[in-house]
Amino acid sequence: MEENVKISEMTTMRLGGAARYVAEVEDEVSLRAALNFAKLQGLPVFVLGGGANVIGRDEGFDGVILRSRIRGFEILAQTPREMTVRVGGGEVLDDIVKIVCERGYTGMEGLTSIPGTMGAAPVQNVGAYGQEIAQVVERVECYDMWASEATDDVHKTFTNKECKFGYRESIFNTGADAGRYFITHVVLKLHKGELKPPFYTSLQKYLDEHNIKDYSPEQIRFAVAQVREGKMPDLRFEASAGSFFKNIYLNDVEAEEAKARGIEVWREHGQNVVNSGWLIQQAGLSGRTFYGVRVSEKASLILINDSARSYSDLARARERIVWAVEKKFGFRLEQEPVEII
Ligand SMILES: Cc1cc2nc3c(=O)[nH]c(=O)nc-3n(C[C@H](O)[C@H](O)[C@H](O)COP(=O)(O)OP(=O)(O)OC[C@H]3O[C@@H](n4cnc5c(N)ncnc54)[C@H](O)[C@@H]3O)c2cc1C
Repeated sequence: MEENVKISEMTTMRLGGAARYVAEVEDEVSLRAALNFAKLQGLPVFVLGGGANVIGRDEGFDGVILRSRIRGFEILAQTPREMTVRVGGGEVLDDIVKIVCERGYTGMEGLTSIPGTMGAAPVQNVGAYGQEIAQVVERVECYDMWASEATDDVHKTFTNKECKFGYRESIFNTGADAGRYFITHVVLKLHKGELKPPFYTSLQKYLDEHNIKDYSPEQIRFAVAQVREGKMPDLRFEASAGSFFKNIYLNDVEAEEAKARGIEVWREHGQNVVNSGWLIQQAGLSGRTFYGVRVSEKASLILINDSARSYSDLARARERIVWAVEKKFGFRLEQEPVEII
């Protein structure tokens, strides 16, 4: 168990004070040991994957950070049409996307280059280019951190339906059981085949420009990686938590009213969505820097920490952006990354 580790060094936004303890969880034994330690010390725990969607606060975390490091990729079943795999929660999501696409299975190619781990993917139901992890999750295997080891069964498996996936949400981050389960493994079911056009505008544009008519998972994975490379921050050189605000979902009445006010509303999976990045751009904030935090000029939903000295700087920048958008459009933006508290 390591002591006093800076959260800024474990998260891609690179902010936050020290965590009192950090435990590497490589299997159930190390998880049990870390949980027992936290219980004896009366300390809270926080599960951390790759740190790509969490923000540390200046006061740090007076508890135990459990770093998700469980590895493994096991083929449970394979036919010419389908493949079911069981993946350790600590595996890198992008590595799994690569393996799956190389074998010709569809369902994850749109998730190419999303930073982070397999175990975190179901938590906020990661999605991009029209795909979501929910579409390929068969079940999620967990360790119940709130159960008593002596009296309860600590192992819990959730079917896809039981995960209650929604836009950037699931039972793992929403409702009474948010933060209760440590995801040890994710079972994915993939199918042979390929996506059908039309694709998302930027992806379609890339395919057209490069005259690509092969929509195999591997080809789309390559194209998505190229498109993302052009607009996403390179985390080796830039600090960011990716999209900092959630998109806005409206009912039909609200959508009509928004359209009448000239706001772009698009339909996705039968729902009305306003792109918060578009609102930020229309509010004239793209490329602007507040307190060392820059609104990406390439994708306005993304904030980049150029020189913020503290979480307080980020909080002030966030308020500035939220205020400007609310003043212009009447929508209050909601933060996507989780804070370690
Ligand atoms: C440049 C950039 C681009 C991004 N693009 C996208 C995108 O296109 N689409 C998208 O959806 N997201 C995107 N994200 C957000 C991020 O990649 C995802 O949220 C990803 O799932 C985070 O994985 P992580 O392992 O880093 O999780 P962390 O950030 O470490 O944790 C995220 C949440 O999951 C919980 N968690 C992590 N592991 C486990 C586990 N094993 N068991 C239980 N809970 C766990 C944590 O407690 C926390 O609540 C992007 C982020 C960045 C920095």
